[in-house]
Amino acid sequence: MADAARIIIVEDNIPFARAVARGLECDGYVTVLAPSGAELRRIYRSQGADLILLDLGLSGEDGIDLAVELTRTTPVAVIIMTGRDEIVDRIRGLDAGADDYVTKPFAQGELNARIRAVLRRRQPVLAQDTTLRFGPVQLDANTRQVRCDGVADAAELTEMETAMLDHLMRAGGRPVERGALMQRVNWDPTDRAADVHIGHIGHIRRKLSDAGIDVLTIWAVRGRGYRLALRGESDEKEAAEGLDRSDRS
Ligand code: CA
Repeated sequence: MADAARIIIVEDNIPFARAVARGLECDGYVTVLAPSGAELRRIYRSQGADLILLDLGLSGEDGIDLAVELTRTTPVAVIIMTGRDEIVDRIRGLDAGADDYVTKPFAQGELNARIRAVLRRRQPVLAQDTTLRFGPVQLDANTRQVRCDGVADAAELTEMETAMLDHLMRAGGRPVERGALMQRVNWDPTDRAADVHIGHIGHIRRKLSDAGIDVLTIWAVRGRGYRLALRGESDEKEAAEGLDRSDRS
């Protein structure tokens, strides 16, 4: 791999976490340990990660809640670890949007294979080094241009708008909460955030529309944040997901 993938291991059993980390580092991954949800948030906010290996059995907190929070607010891949008898949790974890799970005790080789598979599945999103693709729409983070198959013009975004659209594209159509979007672009979430982010989303919509890129829509999801959709598929899902028509462009 060009860049070593970064994995945060969320596990309160430190000796176990260290053993898992050693096994991952043998395969070239960079690992960070987080013994709690609070540590995970702090580390992810400051360093990011490509994948989070999340133990559901954390002392004093529900790993499922963390899984839901991660899959709703970040684009990061999540593999959950569960105890042998926690079949219900396994199902809840996958329902929460986790990419895969491993059941303890597991062989290190199995875990590494599952991680490779999850990272591989997510890789085709990156068409080239800095280009993200969502359906026919491509965002080049270097040039900050958005292009669409079959459309001659490109939309030029600011750095802030590029970071926001990048985050939404990496979420692959999943909702991204407003707070997560703001953290991503290094805003202070308490600082006039509501007005500011609505303004940026509006600018992105207008620039896409001006360039003739009308296949991509940014939906406001009531109480959740935003998500991307391709025109056509949006209308089918709208009723089921409680999307806010008034905030559509
Ligand atoms: Ca544990």
